[in-house]
Amino acid sequence: MKYKPHTSLIHAPRKAPQFISTIQPPIYRASTIIFENTDALFNRHWTDDYDYSYGTHGTPTTFTLGDNIAQLEGGEYCLLAPSGLSAINLVNSCFLSHGDEVWVSDNIYGPNMEHLRSLESKYGIVVKIYNPIDVTSFQPSAKAKLIWLEAAGSVTLEFPDLIGLVNKAKSLQILTALDNTWGAGLAFNAFSFRNKISSEKNSKGESFGDEHIDSENLAVDITVHALTKYPSGGGDILMGSIVTQNKTLHHALFRMHALQGISISGDDVAQIQRSLASMPLRYQHQSQSALKLKDWLKEQVEFNQVIHPADESSPGHKYWKEICQTQQSAGLVSVIFNEKYNLTDIRYFCDNLKLFKLGFSWGGPLSLVMLYNLNDMRQLKNSHLQPGLLVRFCIGLEEPEDLIQDIENALKQLREHKNKE
Ligand SMILES: *Cc1c(COP(=O)(O)O)cnc(C)c1O
Repeated sequence: MKYKPHTSLIHAPRKAPQFISTIQPPIYRASTIIFENTDALFNRHWTDDYDYSYGTHGTPTTFTLGDNIAQLEGGEYCLLAPSGLSAINLVNSCFLSHGDEVWVSDNIYGPNMEHLRSLESKYGIVVKIYNPIDVTSFQPSAKAKLIWLEAAGSVTLEFPDLIGLVNKAKSLQILTALDNTWGAGLAFNAFSFRNKISSEKNSKGESFGDEHIDSENLAVDITVHALTKYPSGGGDILMGSIVTQNKTLHHALFRMHALQGISISGDDVAQIQRSLASMPLRYQHQSQSALKLKDWLKEQVEFNQVIHPADESSPGHKYWKEICQTQQSAGLVSVIFNEKYNLTDIRYFCDNLKLFKLGFSWGGPLSLVMLYNLNDMRQLKNSHLQPGLLVRFCIGLEEPEDLIQDIENALKQLREHKNKE
């Protein structure tokens, strides 16, 4: 049948062949998904990953990336969200109701805390704060519903007592959600701490102590990952994921995800999918560069403290050793300047860096720097952190020697600037 142009442009005769093999999978962009017939329409199961009913419920493109992220992190199911923060918000809005208590570490990703504070004032949930390296500060009441973990924590990079905290939460049936952005599924397996525990026991013939060994398969319930960071690797795409191992949890999240109308462009999903192949190489390179950088930073007199989980002097280092079998440690290093340097000095230092650009986020090719005043950010007393202003370096893919040179130059200028005072 020959149609007029208005029609033939829409009903194009050529269809893609069913089986054609390419390195990257085809990209599906869909709001409507067409049912083959009314049987298919009436038999649809929109909560099933292998059933397609509407764009917001998923396409082969989103499910392909989701499966990859779930596998990477050691879980079973994955949902995608338009940003890391939106993934966090989905977990909060799915599981917290009026009167519930939620526990967050003092070093939690800032916007998560802000979101929870807004839920507290609007919907009457109760936010409690614990010290990530002191499990005794986690004192849940009978109303506790959820604990947020982050390893290592944002900005100050303390590595939490994951085993201790998860063990305590599990014994009280409190949901455990881990922000897995730093580990990216590469530094440790959030869905199975067991391997490490049993191998430690076997090789040394000893255990971590009673509180650490009473679970056969210790793991978190939920991970959230800002795919914006390492999986994207480009510094240009925002996305988040939520991974679980448990079908009931996944379905609760899936339902909330669909009800909220959360959807992501198939093109963005395909970009992340394409970057995943190189992620382990990038992560390893950035980890190695960060190690070189932190060793050099430790020798500079301007800093009171250099924080990096793989460094013995870093808060929570022993917990990092317990969990991070791969010895990998992402590309972040934070320094706390000597107190004699005020905000004007630190700004002068940051403005004189040439390779490190001033910006939030991390995981891309470009090295970034950000400055923080911990006094405005933390609620508990943190005796493990020195006083002074903090600068965080996020290592990109440049040569570490060039990055060191850049910091050396900026420090030299800072010294000259101070001498003139
Ligand atoms: C960046 C980040 C997020 C949020 O991700 P966005 O995609 O920027 O919303 C959440 N948690 C951590 C630890 C992050 O670094």
